[in-house]
Amino acid sequence: MNDIYPWQNEVWQILTQDQASRGHALLLRGRKGIGKLGFAQYLAKFLLCEKPSSEKKACENCPSCKWFAQGGHPDFRLVEPEASSGLSDEIKTKLRSDTEANTEIEPGNTKSKKKPSKQIIIEQIRAFTDLINLSSHRGGYKIILIHPAETMNVAAAHALLKNLEEPPSQTLFILVTHRPHHLLPTIRSRCWQIAMPTPDLTLAIDWLDQQGIKDPKASLAVVGYAPLAVLEYNDDEYLLQHESFIKHISTLKSFNPIFLAEKMQKFDLPTVVNWLQKWCYDLISFRITGSIRYHLSMQDTIKVLVPKIDPRQLARYLRSLIEMQRLSHHSLNSRLFLEEILISYAMLMAPSRIN
Ligand SMILES: [Zn+2]
Repeated sequence: MNDIYPWQNEVWQILTQDQASRGHALLLRGRKGIGKLGFAQYLAKFLLCEKPSSEKKACENCPSCKWFAQGGHPDFRLVEPEASSGLSDEIKTKLRSDTEANTEIEPGNTKSKKKPSKQIIIEQIRAFTDLINLSSHRGGYKIILIHPAETMNVAAAHALLKNLEEPPSQTLFILVTHRPHHLLPTIRSRCWQIAMPTPDLTLAIDWLDQQGIKDPKASLAVVGYAPLAVLEYNDDEYLLQHESFIKHISTLKSFNPIFLAEKMQKFDLPTVVNWLQKWCYDLISFRITGSIRYHLSMQDTIKVLVPKIDPRQLARYLRSLIEMQRLSHHSLNSRLFLEEILISYAMLMAPSRIN
């Protein structure tokens, strides 16, 4: 990360003003895919830079910036769940003996059968104690970045809270979260909470255009208007699977839930539920407001389908998908899970299938 995203300028100016107003703990909150982590990393790099420019950018040349670029800055720690990072073998061993606890997790793309933990555990919080108790190696700040903060399990959260209650000197904690309400209120209250901005549509389209995305507007719609998610999912397998899935569930005459469940069972389950949620959202949205949000190229199909669906049943089904989204992270049998939600969908759409 060599800069912030263009829609983050304002918040950048605020957070880089002076150390006193920044305090010792920041909580960057906002939806997934808007560049919170990149922002936090660049903020850390900038604050550790030994010769920051007058335009408030990291110099990229000082020893600190070079350390940072190589991922081994001695005064910086990135704390993430094992599922999204490379942890030491010692902690991995501990993780395997840890019981699965209770937090809800954001949709991920872990495809391997043996899933690494999606939680931040207490050993990871303890592991940076040495850093915060000693003076910094480079004479400046010591920075701990925790991402996503809501994945801390209960023990980890309490261990962190201790640090926040007695803030060590010259230390900055940066917590990044998609789900602030899943954090302990006592943690939230000890941080300066920053609502991270989502770019407006024009800015997001411009930016994606610069990144070489072919049809930025349609791509943004598919992923729910989070620009970084467009880059993440800009691979052929994802796009083809999505297109094929939507085609199946919108071609009701030939729709076969059993067949589709079998076809999709190896794919990331929360992602599939999310596709179904967005599709049903568009059906309701079209029914109520005449407009759609995600499937811009499917307007004609949606127009034909909607009049035959009972809106109350559809609303009920969409609500049930919220619970299914949560359960999809823990499902043991993907095929049965998908059969269940797709058969319900088929029953909901039945009147449209007859005609
Ligand atoms: Zn520098």
